[in-house]
Amino acid sequence: MPVYRTASEEQTIALGERLAREFPAGAVVLLIGGLGAGKTTLAKGIITGLGAAVPEEVSSPTFTLIHEYGEGPLVYHIDLYRLDEAREVASLGLDDIFESGAIVLIEWGERFPALMPTPRIEIRLRPGEEDEREIEVRSV
Ligand code: ADP
Ligand code: MG
Repeated sequence: MPVYRTASEEQTIALGERLAREFPAGAVVLLIGGLGAGKTTLAKGIITGLGAAVPEEVSSPTFTLIHEYGEGPLVYHIDLYRLDEAREVASLGLDDIFESGAIVLIEWGERFPALMPTPRIEIRLRPGEEDEREIEVRSV
C-alpha cells in the first residue's frame, strides 16, 4: 500500500492530480484525517486531475454536504462532518451517488462505516513536522 509524503499544500494538490488518474470509474474514495489534515486540499487535486474543475473552484462541502463537479457530474465531493446520525446520512441518497459511475470523494465517511460501500479506496492523511503530510492509499 503506497505511502506518499508532501511538504506543502501545492504538493498535496499535485499528488491528488496524479492519484486521480489511477482511480477506476465510479470509485468511492474516503479521505481520512483530522481537521486541517489536508483532506479538502487533496480533493482539490483529485477533482483537478479528473478535469472536472480547477483548484480555485473547489470549496469545502462542510456546510453544503455535497458538491458536484463536471458534466454528469464527473465527481462528487461530500463532507459528513456536520452529521451525527446514520439516519441523517441515509437521507442524503448516497446509494444513488455510489451507483452513478462518478468518482465519489468523502470526508468523515469513516464515521459511518455501515453506509460506506466496498470496494473502496481509503486515503489517510497524517500531519508531520510543520507542513509535512504522510498520505497512505489503500484499497479496501
Ligand atoms: P481538512 O479538509 O482535512 O480539514 P484542509 O485541506 O481544508 O483540511 O486544510 C489543510 C490546511 O493545511 C490548509 O490550510 C493547507 O494550506 C495547510 N497545509 C499545510 N501543509 C499542507 C500539506 N502538505 N498538504 C495539505 N495541506 C497543507
Ligand atoms: Mg475538509
